[in-house]
Amino acid sequence: MKDVEILMLSPMMPLIMEGIDKAFTLRRAWQQPDPESYIREVSSSIRGLAPGGHAHIDGAIFDKLPNLEIVANMGVGYDTIDAKEAGRRGIIVTNTPDVLTEEVADLALGLLLATVRHLPQADRHLREGKWLKGAYPLTPTLRGRKVGILGLGRIGKAIAKRLEGFDVELSYYGRSEQAGVPYRYESTLKDLAAKCDVLLCVAPGGVETNGIVGAEVLKALGPDGILINVGRGSVVDEPALVRALRDKTILTAGLDVFADEPRVPAELVAMDHIVLLPHVGSASVETRRAMGQLVVDNLVSWFSGKGPVTPVAETPFRGTAFA
Ligand code: NAP
Repeated sequence: MKDVEILMLSPMMPLIMEGIDKAFTLRRAWQQPDPESYIREVSSSIRGLAPGGHAHIDGAIFDKLPNLEIVANMGVGYDTIDAKEAGRRGIIVTNTPDVLTEEVADLALGLLLATVRHLPQADRHLREGKWLKGAYPLTPTLRGRKVGILGLGRIGKAIAKRLEGFDVELSYYGRSEQAGVPYRYESTLKDLAAKCDVLLCVAPGGVETNGIVGAEVLKALGPDGILINVGRGSVVDEPALVRALRDKTILTAGLDVFADEPRVPAELVAMDHIVLLPHVGSASVETRRAMGQLVVDNLVSWFSGKGPVTPVAETPFRGTAFA
C-alpha cells in the first residue's frame, strides 16, 4: 500500500507514525518549512488523514484534499472533527472506542475519591511539613452520596459499574432513557443535578453539549454538590463554574478536561479546594498503545478494502460505502 499517501498535520505517538510509515507513504506536514504550501503541493495524492494534535478538521481542510477517503482520529471523542460534513462528502471518520473505556473509568473513580477526600491537598500537607504542626482537617465523604452521570455510554457504564461497589445511589441523564439499565433516568440535566450531590460528566463535546453544565445546573447541584468532569471541557460553562466555586454555590470540583486545553483558567488554578488533572483519562502506556494501534488498524483495514474497524456514528460503513 506504499502508493497510498497519508497526511499527518502534527506529530503523533511513535507507534502510529512508524505503523503508518511502514504500510503507507506518510506525509509529515509539520516538518515542512511552510506546511500550508506543502499541503497544497501534495493535496491531490492524499487519501488518508491522521490529524494529530488539536487541529479543527472541517470543510475547509476537506476542500483542500479532494481525494480524501478517511480521517483516523486518535481518541474516542472526535468533537474536533466535523463528522457530519465528512459524512456528506463520503469521507469515513474513525475513532478509538472501547480500548480506553476501563482506563478512563478507573481515572474517573480516582479523581472522584481524590476530590471528595482531598488526596492531593493532604499530600501537600505532609510534604510541606504541616503534619508536624497538626492533622489534616476532616474532609467530606462519599458515604451516602447520590451520583448522577451525564452520559451513560461506554465509559459512563464502566464508571457506574465501579460505583456500584461503593454503595452509592446512581442515576443518569442522556438524550433518551436506556432499556435494561438498573439506574434511575432523569429526563432533564437540571433534574439530574437537583437529585444528586455528585454530578459526573462523561458526555462528548460538540455543539449539542456545549456549556450544558451551566449556572442553572450548578445551582441545582447545590452547596454540598461535587462536579467531576472527565468528558469534555466544553460541556461545562467554565466561567459559570468559576463563579459557582468562588461563591460556594457548589462544594468542589475534580476536572480532567478543560475548554481550551492546555490552557486552564487562572481562577481555577488558584483554588486549592479543587482537583485539576491535565487530561490524563486514557494516558497509561498500555491504553495509549492500544489506541494508537487502532488508528493504524483503521487505515490499514480501509485501504485493504475491508472497511474501517471503528467508524463513528455519522459515517457508518455499510459494506462498500457508508449509508
Ligand atoms: P459513548 O459510548 O458514545 O457515550 C456517550 C454518552 O453521552 C451516551 O450515553 C450518550 O447518551 C450521551 N450523550 C451524547 N450526546 C449527548 C447530549 N447531547 N446530551 C446528553 N447526553 C449525550 O462514548 P464514550 O466512549 O463513553 O466516551 C464519552 C466521552 O468521554 C468521549 O466523547 C470523550 O469526549 C470523553 N473521553 C475523555 C477521556 C479523557 O481522557 N478524559 C478519554 C476518553 C473519552 P444518549 O445517546 O442517550 O444521549
